Amino acid sequence: MKRNPVFLRLSAAGLAVFMLICAVSGCSGASAGQSGSASFFAMDTIMEMTAYGEGGQDALDQVEHLIFTLEDLFSATDQNSEVYAANQGLKVALSDYTADILDQSLALCALTNGALDITVRPIMDAWGFTTSDYRVPDSTEIDALLPFVDYSLVTPSPDGTLTLPAGVQIDMGAVAKGYASDLAAQLLAENGINSAILSLGGNVMAVGAKPDGSNWRVGIKDPSGNTDYIGVVEVNNKAVVTSGGYERYFTGDDGQVYWHIIDPSTGYPAKTGLSSVTIIGDSGILCDALSTALFVMGADDALDFWRDNGGFEAIFIAEDGEIIITSGLKDVFTPSDTSATVTVASYDR
Ligand code: ADP
Ligand code: MG
Repeated sequence: MKRNPVFLRLSAAGLAVFMLICAVSGCSGASAGQSGSASFFAMDTIMEMTAYGEGGQDALDQVEHLIFTLEDLFSATDQNSEVYAANQGLKVALSDYTADILDQSLALCALTNGALDITVRPIMDAWGFTTSDYRVPDSTEIDALLPFVDYSLVTPSPDGTLTLPAGVQIDMGAVAKGYASDLAAQLLAENGINSAILSLGGNVMAVGAKPDGSNWRVGIKDPSGNTDYIGVVEVNNKAVVTSGGYERYFTGDDGQVYWHIIDPSTGYPAKTGLSSVTIIGDSGILCDALSTALFVMGADDALDFWRDNGGFEAIFIAEDGEIIITSGLKDVFTPSDTSATVTVASYDR
């Protein structure tokens, strides 16, 4: 299988997250019985996985194959992908996987009232995020693109095909790794694996508990880069997904920092005072979608979203260093700096 070079770029962020997991959970080496491991580049990041128990290696080989299959379908840059064809305005007969991720993503776009919007790609292009040829587009250019940023224009037809209106382009970048982590966890379960830790560049999926029955300890990266990680969250059977401005950004000639998380309502990088958002929940795609969407909303609206919807927990790191966690994390989040102030948000407004 020929891999697109775009996907072979090493993601330092992804690597860092995995090393943090290893640092805090001791996943390298300290295995109980047989275990398997996998390490590969896919979806523009490095993926690192360890599965414990008999059949672990075989199961991870299947996971790796599955993730390359998903990448071949969802990549916006691979000229053979379904997403690429759709973005050319062609009528595409959707595979089950693409139809499924589209369905789930469109529901999440609606749930977040468009803070997540999978049609943001023309804007990503204008800023050069799709090519790493970064530039600051002027406001007329952005205004001309905004009418095409509207997920409600994406309407897969009941016959299983998708034809995008002219000018509309989709990008699964905010949800593909989360979706892949869900299918990976499912595949591991089908193979009888009940203890595994999967790191898909910023998307961690903790399958079951550690082999000794204790919780996984997942490090949350310090977005300022001043320290390795800002804290540790203890989980089992949960997705832990972080989105942050530090993952991909450039500094414009004007000295301003522009990052890859875009507010779809303005076409500009989302500047809401946050530097990262971590979401913890059962579903990888939900956590991936919400880590992006709640970053766009900013802490106040994000906390209201949490109060209105529930079903997940969150850690917000503000640019001034403040840490806000939702109440369900009270006993499972430990800041690295024990003197740090951690604000615990409750369901009361
Ligand atoms: P990462 O891919 O770095 O883990 P995210 O999950 O936050 O981070 O996804 C960011 C990617 O999603 C961007 O690179 C871009 O392709 C796309 N994107 C950026 N802003 C949005 C948005 N508001 N809604 C949907 N997709 C977005
Ligand atoms: Mg995301």
